[in-house]
Order: sequence, then structure tokens, then C-alpha cells
Amino acid sequence: MDSGTRSDVLIVGASVAGLSTARALRDEGFAGTITMVGEEDALPYDRPPLSKRILTGEWAAGESALCTQADLDRLGIRLLRGTAAAALDPAGRVVTTASGDDLRYGTLVVTTGVSARRPAYGAGLGGVHLLRTRADAIALRAGLATARRAVVAGAGVLGSEIAAGLRERGVAVTLAGRSRHLRLGLAGALLSPLIARLHRANGVELRLGEEVIGLRGDDRVTAAVLSGGDVVETDLVVAAIGCVPNTGWLASSGLDVSDGIVCDFAGRAAPGVFAAGDVAAWTDPRTGVPVRVEHQLNAAEQARLVARTIATGAVPAAPPVPFFWSDLYGTKIQVYGHGGGTSLDTIAGDPESGRFVAAVQRDGIVTAVVGWNMPRDFRTARVHVGRPAQLVDLKGR
Ligand SMILES: Cc1cc2nc3c(=O)[nH]c(=O)nc-3n(C[C@H](O)[C@H](O)[C@H](O)COP(=O)(O)OP(=O)(O)OC[C@H]3O[C@@H](n4cnc5c(N)ncnc54)[C@H](O)[C@@H]3O)c2cc1C
Repeated sequence: MDSGTRSDVLIVGASVAGLSTARALRDEGFAGTITMVGEEDALPYDRPPLSKRILTGEWAAGESALCTQADLDRLGIRLLRGTAAAALDPAGRVVTTASGDDLRYGTLVVTTGVSARRPAYGAGLGGVHLLRTRADAIALRAGLATARRAVVAGAGVLGSEIAAGLRERGVAVTLAGRSRHLRLGLAGALLSPLIARLHRANGVELRLGEEVIGLRGDDRVTAAVLSGGDVVETDLVVAAIGCVPNTGWLASSGLDVSDGIVCDFAGRAAPGVFAAGDVAAWTDPRTGVPVRVEHQLNAAEQARLVARTIATGAVPAAPPVPFFWSDLYGTKIQVYGHGGGTSLDTIAGDPESGRFVAAVQRDGIVTAVVGWNMPRDFRTARVHVGRPAQLVDLKGR
């Protein structure tokens, strides 16, 4: 792009949050120029299938595209693919790219997401994988062609999904994690016993409370060393040990990037600068604390609110309530709410039967609702979030 070219709205990061912002701007009737800048040389695509249908081989890697070039053309959205933003001058309203181009803007929306955290082990060793991008998924699938055994490092939701996907591919899996509990997004550790039961029923060896601290092998990994001292032979390691916000390019911008981009309750980071999606920490007006949520629907919803503010000036009263889902061995798990609860009480169904809806509560208030293979009841139960638990008809009380 020519130096000095100006867009009314410049969006840095061309994934769910970026594309949703651009689309919602047009839905709101915004007629100005929109440019989207994306580091990956690809059209925007959906990441959740990378650890589900794409990992299991049900879908080809290209099947999770979120739009076509024709869609972007029709909406008048200019996409600069394979272009990384390298610096921001918020006072001058200019973003400089890695190749030195200056992109001027009226309003900036930062949607640069997060990157997979790299483990301290495994550099230069074959058979060691991360899973954040489509390129990662293609590499992992290729690695599966010869793998019989795998170690998944990380007890979070991504570690669980990868373990489940690998089992579906017939690979023997050991899942190791520093935490003694399996954590599932907003539900934290509350669902750990149920998820552990699912994994065990599907043949995963769980090594909770033991993290991978090193690998063995000359050019390819042959074994993983656990913190408890055991050595697990393996052909493949997938590290799912968390994410790091993509804010390095904002180091000299003066924005608060202490954990993602700190924003007010409406996604405003500085005059003329908004942030949305995994990289954004919107301040919760109830607590005054900035919170980063790494969930797909939250990214889309924040993007929609930012677009409405830009297009109409209407400022939302509060951030969206986070919503998260996962699929493990055909079990659909949904969580709506703010998390951080201390108990789980059944509202409908029965955990023993593999179908239930439950309320997560803290200090007598329902903070979240969990659905386990009961999507319709889960949808209706969402109204309970924020209510006193005593008003909810909890089973067994
Ligand atoms: C394997 C996997 C499975 C998932 N499954 C689920 C699920 O089941 N449910 C759920 O709710 N969520 C899930 N998620 C999370 C979900 O994908 C994210 O919440 C969502 O992708 C966030 O979108 P985003 O646009 O904020 O950020 P991202 O999707 O991370 O996109 C950010 C984009 O910005 C680009 N970028 C970064 N830096 C720059 C720069 N300097 N210049 C230009 N471009 C830049 C990146 O290359 C990237 O394309 C999953 C994630 C992964 C990886």
C-alpha cells in the first residue's frame, strides 16, 4: 500500500474479531473506507475446527474459511494479506507495517489475537507441534501419518480437545499437565472429574499434576520427560500450554498492554483506538478489573459492539457476557457466564446420565450456566446468570 494512504477504519488482525468488525460496520450502514491488515497470508478462517473436524480429518484444512475474496469485494473491505503491523503512533493516527508502509486511519480497531505459548523444550526437534494456526494444523496432520503414540502437554481446553481428536485418529495419548485439574474455559476446574471420566473412557492416560519438562530424541522426539521423573515414549508431542497476546508491535505506542490491550467497558483503548477479541481486556464495570476472554463468540460479539459504537456513536453499557463451547468425543459442552464460581449444582438432567445443565455459583449468586449434551435446556437456563442461586430450582436442594 502506498505510504500515506488513509482508511476511515483500519483493522489490524484479519480473523474472527477483525472480519466481524468489518462486516458489522457495513451492517450498521457505515459507508466509509475499511482496510483490514492480516499477518497470515490467508483469507480469514475459523480456528475452532482446527482442533476438531480438521484434526480428525473430517474436514480439509481449507474448509473453515470465514469468507471469500468475493464477499470482501462486495462489502468494500480491503484486505492486505501477509502484512504485519509493526508500530502504532496513536497521536498521529498511523500504523507502520513491517515493510515500512504507513497506514493512516480515522479509527483503529486492534484485533491481533494471541499466539500459542512456546515451550522451553523441543526447539529444532521433529515431531513437536503447537496448534493455533491453519499452518500448525496442516503440520500436525502430516505428523500423524506416522505417529502411533502422542503426548499432549497442557490440561486446558485445547489440550483436552487435541487429546480427543488424536484418540479419534487411533493414536495412543498421554495427557500431561501442571494442574491437578482439567480446566475448561470459563468453567475452570469445576468440570474436571467429568472430563477426566470422558478421557479415561476413551483410553487417554492422564498424568495430571505432572508437566512435561523436557524431551528426548536426536532429530525427532522419542520421549517426553515428566516433572515427576517418568519418561514417556512417544512419536509426537503437542504443546497446548496457553497463549500470549499479540501486542509486541504496540510496545512503543503508549497503550497499556500489561495483559493484552487494556480497554474501558466498551473496548476503547485510547482516542480513536478500539480493541476486540482475544487480545482485548475490556474492563468489567462490576469489578473495575480488565478481563481478557479467549473465546470465539466473545470475539464476534465485542467486534459487533465496537462496530456499532464507531458507526452510530452508541456505546454499550457493559461488555458481552462470555459464552464458550467445546466438543469432546461427541459431547457438546457449553458455558455461559463469568466463571470463577466455587460450586456446580444441577438444574436439569443428571451428570451420571451424560446429559445435564448446571449452575455455577459463588457467594450465593449464579455466575455461569453449564450445558452438557443438553443444548435446548442450556439455552433457557442462561437467564439465571447473575441471579441469586436461591431463586433457581436446583435439583437436590
Ligand atoms: C485450535 C483452537 C480451537 C478453538 N476452539 C474454540 C472453541 O471450541 N470455542 C471457543 O469459544 N473458542 C475456541 N477457540 C478460540 C477462538 O478461536 C478465538 O477466541 C478466536 O480465534 C479469537 O479471534 P480473534 O480474531 O480475536 O484472534 P485470532 O483468531 O487469534 O486472530 C488474530 C489475527 O491477527 C493476526 N495478527 C497478529 N499480529 C498481527 C500484526 N502485528 N499485524 C497483522 N496481523 C496480526 C494473526 O495472524 C491472526 O490472524 C479455539 C482456538 C484454537 C486455536
